[in-house]
Amino acid sequence: MEAITSNFPHGEGRTCVITRRACFSASHLYRLPELSDDDNSALFGPCSIAPGHGHNYELIVTMEGDLNKYGMVLNLSDVKHAIKNEVTSQLDFRFLNDTWPEFDLSKPEGCLPTTESLVRIIWERLKSHLPLKSLRLYENPKLWADYQGNAMDAYLTVQTHFSAAHRLAREDLPQTENEKIFGKCARPNGHGHNYLVDITVKGKINPRTGMICDLSALNSLINDLVVEPFDHTFLNKDIPYFANCVPTAENIALHISDKLTNPINAIGANLYKIKLQESPNNAAEVYANVPESTIDTKDSKNQVRLLR
Ligand SMILES: [Zn+2]
Ligand SMILES: [Zn+2]
Repeated sequence: MEAITSNFPHGEGRTCVITRRACFSASHLYRLPELSDDDNSALFGPCSIAPGHGHNYELIVTMEGDLNKYGMVLNLSDVKHAIKNEVTSQLDFRFLNDTWPEFDLSKPEGCLPTTESLVRIIWERLKSHLPLKSLRLYENPKLWADYQGNAMDAYLTVQTHFSAAHRLAREDLPQTENEKIFGKCARPNGHGHNYLVDITVKGKINPRTGMICDLSALNSLINDLVVEPFDHTFLNKDIPYFANCVPTAENIALHISDKLTNPINAIGANLYKIKLQESPNNAAEVYANVPESTIDTKDSKNQVRLLR
């Protein structure tokens, strides 16, 4: 048998993307000194209740570089120390508003320590130490922000869920044909899923509120336009759109994208992506129509990507 040899001893010179995860716990308070108590409460809801509240944050640092002669992009212990020195040792068990000068709200340039503003400032702290490609910061498993070093542009993702039944079949085809195409999913009485939906919006971080958009307004839209109408339904019969459209994961994701695009624009952000997970084994992703000025990846236009 012929031995496999490489022109790259130990992979040296080849490019690779690596990630490192780090966790910290911290508290924060959303309260702007220039606003009245009522205005703070109206704008930030319970997040404005003194003395604040906390989260167990999870940071995912993605880096890219060429392998060295030891087969590594970077020595992971150097990565670990950089993240600890520059980020977690300064934030862990702290009140974020009192940590970094960027969060000093007594100064006009001070910004609330939201997830999206925090991930941007973490990028600023790490960029001279690590070859960053992207950062993701989870405030909790159902809310996270992504940042790729593009000025004030950031992404915020909210995860929600609904339970629904469906049947995959085209009414214009005989049952035998439907079963050939859709398999067990074409059985006459349907079946159900606990759907997980990730709604990702893209926008500019407001330099004062630290927000891409009003999160409670976004949550209300998602609840009113997706969760309430879809939850505990038989999609084919209860949702008029699916009377003549097979409710595959792809079509459900597209329909959610179509329903949310304009309302999310109206609250000052852009819908970027919908990911619909039907089961642990399959999901569909739809990239919404983002205005040209904010498109930064070539695969971001009206595409469905399947993860099977
Ligand atoms: Zn919070
Ligand atoms: Zn199904």
